Amino acid sequence: MSATRFEVFGNVAVITLDNPPVNGLGSALRRGISEGVKRAQNDDEVRAIVLVGSANGFSGGADVKEFGTPLASAAPNLRALVSEIEESSKPVIAAIAGIAMGGGLELALGCHYRVALRDARIALPEVKLGLLPGAGGTQRLPRVIGLERALNMIVSGTSVLSQELADTRLFDRMIGGELATGAIEFAREVAAVRPLPRVRDLSVHDVNAQEVLGRARASVKTLAKNLPAPAACVAAVAASLGDFAEGLTEERALFDKLVQSPESAALRHAFFAERAAAKIAGVSADTAVRRIRSAAVIGAGTMGGGIAMNFANAGIPVTVLDASAEALAKGLDIVRRNYESAAKKGKLSPEELAQRSGLISGTLAAQDLAGADIVIEAVFEDLEVKRRVFQEIDAVAKPGAILASNTSTLNIDTIAHFTQRPADVLGMHFFSPANVMRLIEIVRGQATSDEVLASILALAKKLKKVGVVSGVCDGFIGNRMLRPYMRQAELLLLEGALPAQLDGALERWGWAMGPCRMSDLAGNDVAGFIRKRQYAEDPGAPHSQIADRLVELGRLGQKSGRGYYRYAPEGREALPDPEVERIILHIARSAGLTQRRIKDDEIVKRCVFALINEGAKILADGIAARASDIDVVYLTGYGFPLFRGGPMFYADTVGLQTIVHTMHRLAANPVADPGSWQPAALLARLAVEGKTFNG
Ligand code: NAD
Repeated sequence: MSATRFEVFGNVAVITLDNPPVNGLGSALRRGISEGVKRAQNDDEVRAIVLVGSANGFSGGADVKEFGTPLASAAPNLRALVSEIEESSKPVIAAIAGIAMGGGLELALGCHYRVALRDARIALPEVKLGLLPGAGGTQRLPRVIGLERALNMIVSGTSVLSQELADTRLFDRMIGGELATGAIEFAREVAAVRPLPRVRDLSVHDVNAQEVLGRARASVKTLAKNLPAPAACVAAVAASLGDFAEGLTEERALFDKLVQSPESAALRHAFFAERAAAKIAGVSADTAVRRIRSAAVIGAGTMGGGIAMNFANAGIPVTVLDASAEALAKGLDIVRRNYESAAKKGKLSPEELAQRSGLISGTLAAQDLAGADIVIEAVFEDLEVKRRVFQEIDAVAKPGAILASNTSTLNIDTIAHFTQRPADVLGMHFFSPANVMRLIEIVRGQATSDEVLASILALAKKLKKVGVVSGVCDGFIGNRMLRPYMRQAELLLLEGALPAQLDGALERWGWAMGPCRMSDLAGNDVAGFIRKRQYAEDPGAPHSQIADRLVELGRLGQKSGRGYYRYAPEGREALPDPEVERIILHIARSAGLTQRRIKDDEIVKRCVFALINEGAKILADGIAARASDIDVVYLTGYGFPLFRGGPMFYADTVGLQTIVHTMHRLAANPVADPGSWQPAALLARLAVEGKTFNG
């Protein structure tokens, strides 16, 4: 199947790029463009050539379906195609609508002219995958939009509206009407102009070049240790100040190095992992989905308000119900203040502020939820309370409404059977703050219908969230794995590490937040409440003495000004607290432990390997469908370092055999809970077979 169409209008050849959905520059499309350009060259009637995309866009860049396959570099590769176009003896005009990103923009930069609609989005986003634009983008973009603007775009990877670049040499004309017609008209006007303008023949003039580059180098410096791509982008753009051919060589060398880097491998893994998470075995792409045009949230607390904002942000009206008028007013007030502060920072226009606030209403009457297409429960984490709430929803919600619980740990199957319609029930586990964090663990109960599951996956996308499906177990994917991780944190404190060292070691390794700071932020009582239930269910389970003691003392974390750390009034900075040192020492001594100096490396290995081992069990139990789903959960919900690709991907890079050996060694430390160092059966088997989690 050809990925292009070739037509001639008078003496203008039009090559239409046709590789849905976004004209990814796969091998067939590259070949089609190359053949079209040759055909136009050989046709005496043709005097100019227009390259145009579809309504979806000119081109979104490399075809992700071909990533990592031989097709990705099949002839002509993008670099060769760009030079072929640049060398054409007849003018080639790129006509841009929708998007021109990555390789798509590089292709357009190889054309002699570019025309565009005003609302096209332009970007070189390669840095987000740990790469740089490798088909001349770092050399050509500064030549048309200037050094500083090009640096900003290439180093950040963010997109810019074409009209914001209308004053630059990137565009020769902004088209007001129909794009192809405007482009053909433009092509006729320039058909006879010689010599043909080429971006490569321009040079970059910037009297402040060194100052601009100095600033850019300084801004990427702190990132550079873990993410080499931004600094490489600056180096490549700096080369655009010199000779074009030399600049291309430099760009190529830097690109080749980045492609081989573990950081880029991790970022690419994360990108594909997110896409894979939306695909559910056994649920076909054409499964019917229910339309969600109105929503309701029960509970106006920490989570309920944030969840409601997600719906309003997506233009879906949402009613928030709380049992207490005071809690409802407080919850809605927080939402209002959140929106107002976003508007003050310029993130929301006054119209958006009014529109979004207007989509959220509050009520104390369950009857007001009768019309909602989805009801999400976010009340206290207590099964009895949930039972009453679900029975109430069941009585009022209309037939076909989806009933979701935001529970962090409770059994969705039990909750589903509080209703007469368990097929309509599932878990939607948002993360705090729910209006900011991208992850939703979608908990599929035994009875949850495929249609309901598919509807929630589609809804997650609409809410701009990442949905990962989890089976039912205590804590689902994320919080179940957190338990052995936090257990190691607790033991390390007992053995001699202090909260600041523990957090420091893990944060230097790349975690957004160490376990003590994280717990203080979430509220130590939240996990304490869950532990209480777990102790009751499994009296033999080890107790977290330090964590329990802090809760007993009212050290709930940031909200009470004291937790593992102390906080200045209204402050968020975690300050070491000698009182906590005394508490830890007291518990350690009572347990007969002598504290010792613990190296950072031990802290990281024990916490991270415990996490990985539980991940292996979750995978073997079928709670997660694939290792990459676990990675997505940890990258988007728990602050695991992105440049390490998620716990399971990281395990693969370390080598599963190495992990198993280390676990055997750690089991020799009697304090470190030898039982927790029994490698999961799946981990042990894959290690013996020399395999990886991510296949
Ligand atoms: P919260 O205590 O801040 O809010 C709960 C709200 O529910 C309160 O406003 C309360 O008045 C209301 N409520 C209680 N019983 C009710 C009833 N019968 N009918 C109507 N409203 C009722 O709690 P939260 O932190 O928002 O947690 C809510 C749920 O979300 C829990 O299941 C929790 O495990 C889960 N969760 C919490 C977090 C977090 O970080 N806080 C993260 C993920 C999930």
